[in-house]
Amino acid sequence: MQDANLNDERTGSEEQAEARTGRVVRLLQQGRRAHRAVRYKARHAVQRVGRHAAQRARNAARRGRSLSLGAAALTVATLAAVGGSAPGGLLPQSADTSAVAQAVLDHSATQRADRSTRTAPSASPSATAAAPTASPAPSSTPKPAPPKPKPAWVSPMPGATVTSCFGMRWGVQHAGMDLALPPGTPVHAVGAGTVEAAGWIYAGYGISVVINHGNGYLTHYAHLSRITVSPGQKVSAGQQIGAEGSTGDSTGPHLHFEVHKGMWNQIEPAKWLRDRGVHIPGC
Ligand SMILES: [Zn+2]
Repeated sequence: MQDANLNDERTGSEEQAEARTGRVVRLLQQGRRAHRAVRYKARHAVQRVGRHAAQRARNAARRGRSLSLGAAALTVATLAAVGGSAPGGLLPQSADTSAVAQAVLDHSATQRADRSTRTAPSASPSATAAAPTASPAPSSTPKPAPPKPKPAWVSPMPGATVTSCFGMRWGVQHAGMDLALPPGTPVHAVGAGTVEAAGWIYAGYGISVVINHGNGYLTHYAHLSRITVSPGQKVSAGQQIGAEGSTGDSTGPHLHFEVHKGMWNQIEPAKWLRDRGVHIPGC
C-alpha cells in the first residue's frame, strides 16, 4: 500500500513536482530563518539574564552579602534552561548556556579578586595593630643588658694607692689604712648607712666622717679637706661624703680609713672590705 502511494506521488506531473519542490525549499528557508531568529532571540535572552545575574552578584558583593558564585551560575543556568525550553528545543542550549555561565563565573572571580585587593588595605590596620603585641615576644632585636645592680660595698677612694696598712707602725698601732690620691679627690661611703658624726670632732683626725652601717659596724674617714654630709643623713654605697685632704695629724694628703666593730674598736679594714667583695691591693 505504502509503496503504491509513494509511486503515485513520484509519478505525478512535472509541474506538480516542481511546485512541491519549490514549496519544500521555501518552507525549508522559512524554517531556517525562523530557526536563526529564535536562536538569536534566545541567546540574547540568556545573555541578558546572565548580565542581570552578574549585576545582582556584584550588588550583593558590594552590600557585603556573600552571594555564592555557584548560586549565580545556577541562576543563569536555570534561567537559560527555562528560556531554552520555550522555543521548542531549537536553542543550542548546552554550548551557549555554559559559555554564559562561564563568563559569569570568570567575571565574578575577577570581582572577587578586585574585592580582595580592595579589602586588603582595610584588613591591614588590624594586622599592624596586632603586630606591636606580637613583636616583643620574638625579641629579634637583642635587648640591652640590664644595668648592673649597684654593689652594696665599694672602695672609699677607687684607684687609690695604699700607703700604709692596719697594724703596728713605728711602735704605735695604726688603726686604719691610708689611701693616697691627689688632694680634693672625692671620698665615698663604702656602704649604705647613716652619718654618725661629721666635722672636726676627734683629736688628731682633722675633718672626719663616721658612718653607721648597722650590725655594729662603723666606718671612719679622716684628714678630709671638706665634708659633703651632715650627722643623721642617710647615705648610699658610693655616695660622696667629702674630699681627700690633710687635716689633723697628717704628714700629707691622704685618706685615713678605719672600720670599727663597735665605736673605737677598730679592726683590720682590708679584710673587712674583702669580705664584702671590695679588693684594695696592698694590704
Ligand atoms: Zn692612717
